[in-house]
Amino acid sequence: MQLLDGKKVSEDIKNEIAAEVQKMRDKGEKVPHLAAIIVGNDGASLTYVGSKVKACERVGFESTLIKMPSTTSEKELLKKIEELNQDTNIDGFIVQLPLPPQIDTQEVLMAIDPSKDVDGFHPENFGKMALDMSTFIPATPFGILELLERYNVQTQGKHTVVIGRSHIVGRPMSILMGRKGFPGNSTVTLTHSHTKNLNQITSQADIVISALGVPNFLKAEMIKDDAVIIDVGITRVEDPTTEKGYKIVGDVDFENVSKKASYITPVPGGVGPMTIAMLLKNTLLARENGIK
Ligand code: NAD
Repeated sequence: MQLLDGKKVSEDIKNEIAAEVQKMRDKGEKVPHLAAIIVGNDGASLTYVGSKVKACERVGFESTLIKMPSTTSEKELLKKIEELNQDTNIDGFIVQLPLPPQIDTQEVLMAIDPSKDVDGFHPENFGKMALDMSTFIPATPFGILELLERYNVQTQGKHTVVIGRSHIVGRPMSILMGRKGFPGNSTVTLTHSHTKNLNQITSQADIVISALGVPNFLKAEMIKDDAVIIDVGITRVEDPTTEKGYKIVGDVDFENVSKKASYITPVPGGVGPMTIAMLLKNTLLARENGIK
């Protein structure tokens, strides 16, 4: 079994990005600037957005964190988005999800200028992705592709089973694994909460990408020998033995599944750190006007 070490690979990527930023600095050019909007005080969201800002500092980007109260109206948020769309100093920005119930998430995502949409959630960018065009790929699926590529995990002609069809992970992942090229060229089955006989489907998979958010959901008896296992799940479970009082667990019963798998991502230290690294990569692309 080979561990797909997202912690290490994400550090490599951050070093590569930092070197690019240093070149820009040396030439007296503007460095990439990422802004993030967070609405409300959700603990997990504040942690995620904090890690994103910290990662910007680490690679030499500029960053701006905009905190808005949980009572913010959709109109107020759309106004802030328009300001960022117009601000030539900001290369890319994200709106941290989830948003409070009074705000329509789809309206918000559609208001972001596609050329600054470094999360890749705007329908224009999502459509381009599905059409094999150059665009911003949502950071988590992008990170998974990067891991597969850097470990040279073969995907051509393989059967990939994706569990979960969210717009930010499962759905784009299913599209990307079936696209032409590497990583891609696989035959994809997208499964979800209405899928029947999931065990039968996963046990035929060469590659399983699990993104549902249920701890220890994927068991050893659900996979075949030497399958590649990508665990996207992040669930906080109480753990009084830790300083924070909780620990992070994935969707995969790592202890038993890892004995059967050929490659596997750990949680933490797998897909999570890759997500942040690829957000930085998208911001660098936005700065370089790489997206046409
Ligand atoms: P979500 O919560 O929006 O959707 C879950 C999906 O799982 C749905 O499509 C649902 O149909 C499917 N599902 C639920 N129960 C199922 C079952 N019994 N069998 C088959 N499918 C089932 O998903 P999300 O936002 O993609 O998040 C999924 C997990 O990934 C969460 O734990 C989240 O925290 C994590 N996540 C991690 C990263 C990362 O960077 N590692 C990024 C995003 C999300």
